[in-house]
Amino acid sequence: MTQTQSPPQAHDNHEQARQLRERTHARGIRHFIGGAWVDSLSGETFETHTPTDNSVIASVASGDAGDIDRAARAAFDAFQTWREVGGAERRRVLHRVADLIEARAQEIALLESLDTGQAIRFMKSAAARGAENFRFFADRAPSASDGQSLPAPGFLNYTLRQPIGPVGVITPWNTPFMLSTWKIAPALAAGCTVVHKPAEWSPVTATLLAEIMDEAGLPGGVHNLVHGFGETAGRALTEHPLIKAVAFVGETTTGSHIMRQGADTLKRVHFELGGKNPVVVFEDADLEKALDAVVFMIYSLNGERCTSSSRVLIQEGIYDEFTARIAERARNIRVGDPLDPATEIGPLVHPRHFEKVMGYFDRAREEGATIAAGGGRVGGEGNYVSPTLFTEARNDMRISQEEIFGPVLTAIPFTDEADALALANDVQYGLAGYLWTNDLTRAHRFSHGLEAGMIWVNSENVRHLPTPFGGVKNSGIGRDGGDYSFDFYMETKNIAISLGTHKTARLGVGQAPVVSKEVAEG
Ligand code: NAD
Repeated sequence: MTQTQSPPQAHDNHEQARQLRERTHARGIRHFIGGAWVDSLSGETFETHTPTDNSVIASVASGDAGDIDRAARAAFDAFQTWREVGGAERRRVLHRVADLIEARAQEIALLESLDTGQAIRFMKSAAARGAENFRFFADRAPSASDGQSLPAPGFLNYTLRQPIGPVGVITPWNTPFMLSTWKIAPALAAGCTVVHKPAEWSPVTATLLAEIMDEAGLPGGVHNLVHGFGETAGRALTEHPLIKAVAFVGETTTGSHIMRQGADTLKRVHFELGGKNPVVVFEDADLEKALDAVVFMIYSLNGERCTSSSRVLIQEGIYDEFTARIAERARNIRVGDPLDPATEIGPLVHPRHFEKVMGYFDRAREEGATIAAGGGRVGGEGNYVSPTLFTEARNDMRISQEEIFGPVLTAIPFTDEADALALANDVQYGLAGYLWTNDLTRAHRFSHGLEAGMIWVNSENVRHLPTPFGGVKNSGIGRDGGDYSFDFYMETKNIAISLGTHKTARLGVGQAPVVSKEVAEG
């Protein structure tokens, strides 16, 4: 572990984090239902730990079907009020939420870092992104219900959108605060009410978000928070009849469970699932920039990132040199205390996840790949692993096919464009793809052929909030971002007004049948 004497800013962070931790420990982490902080009906709790040494941060209320039922009813009762307050008022409240997130950004970043092990340098911008998400959707709240005018002969057709009702939001542990805002902000802007079930491995900052929304003036019951495990609280949320839709971010297999669980109540589902995203580097690319982007997209956020470029496909003429340069960078990455601003990689979220990632180091050896950098744990305590590069890998190896979700990169050589495309598409996932080439026509051609929901050409993942975010194949169903989010949280209604000029077929008047085309079409 790269650890020297703590610099002054790291020291300040530690002192602030210590105070926040004490406060969190003393209060415990509770549900927020109908505008009140409550324990579980059962009185059950579980503990959340910090991955730096796996010591307990706080006990957390462990919700089950009874708590979810309370929250769903509160969301149902609040729905009528919230949908009718009007877009301008929703905009005002959601901007206030963004203001308060900005005011508490340091606190959010420190607690997120403590709970997840993510490096503080990334968590500060994640908190700022949370505020941006609220502002973006706040500004769209007044026009969310706007529709289209679709005139037809004899009719004026117009559409409008209405909020679908109370929705469930289920989030993962990797960047919990930012991801929650990405789901909750558009739901609230649309006029929906929310029951949020955060991940059991990183529940801490969900409390801050609930506090902030309450302080911003969100009426009681509009946003509800229930902690607990996936198989109990999560499952109950997806099965509850008052919940009309479930926005889920997490693993692909969990998505399948949720689809089954929601079948009886015909839930609308939106899934953002796993990825094994390729970054394809052609010989003609700007290799300096490509190197920065490849290294950033796998080793930032501890590699616990759905859009991480976890497979690098490199044209054979530059394979040896390019992998050597990645290995050199990987060996230089600063692994250590997540609260130190100089740290680039912190500990993995949980010992179980740590074991999973470590297991791939053995797998790589068994499969015959070379470990060109890393491949082991760092330090004696905590869930630290070294930034790792596997070379001499083939695409059919498990290290090339499975989502490892850690700072672990698999490098595979390719011969030409056709070979690269075949390798890039030969996985079950299709979330993001990255392409490095200076050949313009190839960039377009390759992007059209690549099976992914989002493609960046000559760039790492740079998000633009109006653009669609989501995956194909086993990486998801549906899109977030801009108006795409409203399509999920709202129902589109068509209203057809007759101009009084069309003829209605007359039945029961003893005439020969004249069936108009419209009647025949139902
Ligand atoms: P996970 O699927 O284990 O858990 C996610 C959430 O689902 C948690 O809150 C969990 O409690 C809940 N859950 C688990 N079982 C459930 C069930 N049967 N019913 C209802 N809820 C249930 O995922 P994770 O390990 O927390 O997160 C990592 C995964 O998330 C990775 O696969 C990653 O790629 C994915 N992810 C995807 C995106 C994206 O935008 N595509 C973004 C971030 C993370």
